[in-house]
Amino acid sequence: MLSIPEREAKIHMNMFRRPPMTLVRGKGARVEDSDGKSYVDCVAGIAVDALGHGHSGLAEVIAEQAKKLIHVSNLYYSEPQVKLGEMLINSSGLDRLFFVNSGAEANEGAIKLARKWGIQNRDGAFNIISTDNSFHGRTMTTVAATGTPAYREPFGPPTPGFEFVPFNDFDALKQKVNSETAAILLEPIQGEGGVNEPDPDYLKQVRDLCDSEGILLILDEVQTGCGRTGKMFAFQHYGIMPDIMTLAKGLGGGVPIGAVLASEKAAVFQPGDHGSTFGGNVLACAASEYVVDQILNQGVLETVNQRANYLENKIEQLEDRSDLVVGQRGKGLLKAIILRDEISADVVGKCIAAGLLANPIRPNAIRLMPPLIVTEDELDDAFEILETVLKEFE
Ligand SMILES: *Cc1c(COP(=O)(O)O)cnc(C)c1O
Repeated sequence: MLSIPEREAKIHMNMFRRPPMTLVRGKGARVEDSDGKSYVDCVAGIAVDALGHGHSGLAEVIAEQAKKLIHVSNLYYSEPQVKLGEMLINSSGLDRLFFVNSGAEANEGAIKLARKWGIQNRDGAFNIISTDNSFHGRTMTTVAATGTPAYREPFGPPTPGFEFVPFNDFDALKQKVNSETAAILLEPIQGEGGVNEPDPDYLKQVRDLCDSEGILLILDEVQTGCGRTGKMFAFQHYGIMPDIMTLAKGLGGGVPIGAVLASEKAAVFQPGDHGSTFGGNVLACAASEYVVDQILNQGVLETVNQRANYLENKIEQLEDRSDLVVGQRGKGLLKAIILRDEISADVVGKCIAAGLLANPIRPNAIRLMPPLIVTEDELDDAFEILETVLKEFE
């Protein structure tokens, strides 16, 4: 009988490099494969499984909602959509929102919104300045907005209107802005780019620049939002407000959902401008309402901050014990361990074999983004594996 990887190899387009096991269940920050082997999950579906795996409260909400209604379309009102929307508006301080299904779709919506705003309010301006090494999604326009040329080059002419500057280089950004600029698009901390944090005053400077130039600031919080960095939204670390913000990844705790939030000024969509069949689907909103309530009101945000300290100390200790670890980047439970050598893929391969899921985000950096409810015990196990594996490379 063929294994799942062997059957998959016959039918799927080859887009992912997967390790040779099949995950079948999980509990908290642990997952189990079809052979019954257990792994500490420090990937969490790429910062998606906010409440971990096998969460009975979340499962119950999904089951209960599925029995009532799974989907009714945006042609009709639904209570979970409004309740979730109110929580996101109240916790962000932004004014209006709409729902989508993914990060790329959220950024598509944000880009459309900013372009319409610029065309109406800035004399036809529609250019958006993005940053090198950014990641905003895989659709044709979000790859055009993504500062990783390899993601866009095989696919012909990109959507026009995007320019790039180095991340965390305020002078370069300032020089790029002109009368054709409608908006600046940034991740508060670059996730896929390698967990790159800006200088503490960078986002404030960018905010002031947007105000003085009369352009919009779009923050892509698809990865950094929903409690991941220790605040509900990463911008709250920096004392600023975006004009537009996108969310997805952790928002539904694994159920696909995204959102675009905007200030009143930037909320220029009218009936007919935009829409989605599934976006804000009642099942996804019910799940997300539960997840967001857990994060904001049931102690998960406090847990993130406590475990973030623990994680930071764990990485420091590893740095003391291994010459191969030379530092760390990131905030909250979005972290990269920086290695002296470009061995992250090999290290992660051996970690997986030893029972730890981690992500080789750069040749010399391993990204850790465990569920927000990860325990100290789970992190202890993760670091025991990391230390053992790193010894093999010394
Ligand atoms: C993952 C990610 C996206 C894309 O999200 P998808 O749901 O995969 O489309 C966009 N922006 C950032 C910052 C991300 O981390």
